[in-house]
Amino acid sequence: MFEALSGKLNGVFDRLRRRGALSEADVTEALREVRVALLEADVALPVVRDLIAKVRERAVGVEVLKSVSPAQQVIKIVHDALVEALGGGAADAGQRGIDLAAAAPVAILMVGLQGSGKTTTSGKIALRLKGREKKKVLLASLDVHRPAAQLQLETLAKQVGVASLPIVAGQTPLQIAARAMDQARRELFDVVVLDTAGRLAIDETLMDEVAAVKLATQPHETLLVVDAMTGQDAVNTARAFQDKVGVTGIVMTRIDGDARGGAALSMRAVTGAPIKLLGAGEKLDALEDFHPDRIAGRILG
Ligand code: GDP
Repeated sequence: MFEALSGKLNGVFDRLRRRGALSEADVTEALREVRVALLEADVALPVVRDLIAKVRERAVGVEVLKSVSPAQQVIKIVHDALVEALGGGAADAGQRGIDLAAAAPVAILMVGLQGSGKTTTSGKIALRLKGREKKKVLLASLDVHRPAAQLQLETLAKQVGVASLPIVAGQTPLQIAARAMDQARRELFDVVVLDTAGRLAIDETLMDEVAAVKLATQPHETLLVVDAMTGQDAVNTARAFQDKVGVTGIVMTRIDGDARGGAALSMRAVTGAPIKLLGAGEKLDALEDFHPDRIAGRILG
């Protein structure tokens, strides 16, 4: 595992030819390679710095074991720090997956930039809740900016076999949200998934609109959907949504691509919100639970 990084670290330690405890100089040299590996995996610079500082603290003075190479020891320390930073601690385990522990109808607000996979993920979540949890789910698109958006969600709802809110032309997102909650209450739905409009980039109007919908619907979950391929931009997106709207969890999509997943680490660090689910393809069943150790492994390459 982690061939590229272990190769480099082996090189470092061979050059240093140290025995005994890892010295400050050993660790500094090794962490230079770790830093490059993390940056190559798209982890944001401030997040890399914090992580490196933590690893340095833990690694200096560690006795070099006979059974494992110093490189493997450093990698283990980095890996464990990554898992921790991704929310892999026992205390975080309960935060994964969607939390439905609230009075029905439970509203789930989907937020994120256009093209991040919000609508697809709404459909995937509906399928999962219907299948695994036997929930009665209503899908509603609040996207009045893109004419095809509401139809797209309606089509997805049909594919999944759940209800979608009838489309009424000329309504504002707030009016649609109110209608969705109303219908959900009257028809005893367990869950309402509200898919909001996205923009290509963060803008105030979008944030205000989403914040207003959140205030009006009081969702139990506000899930930020972010494309794993966005790398460094993911940090800015996540920060903006956390500051302006407030999110309870993150769904990272396109994990089926070749992105290394550093965005997950950055978003988690910046927002403090847990990564709850991963999108792993265009198909509706391509929704995975989040396993911090798998993403840590992927980041290390
Ligand atoms: P939205 O604008 O945020 O609602 O994004 P969409 O849900 O319309 O998704 C945009 C495109 O990304 C569509 O072509 C989806 O099929 C695709 N997509 C969504 N999630 C994933 C994923 O996890 N993996 C891959 N490969 N494609 C995805």
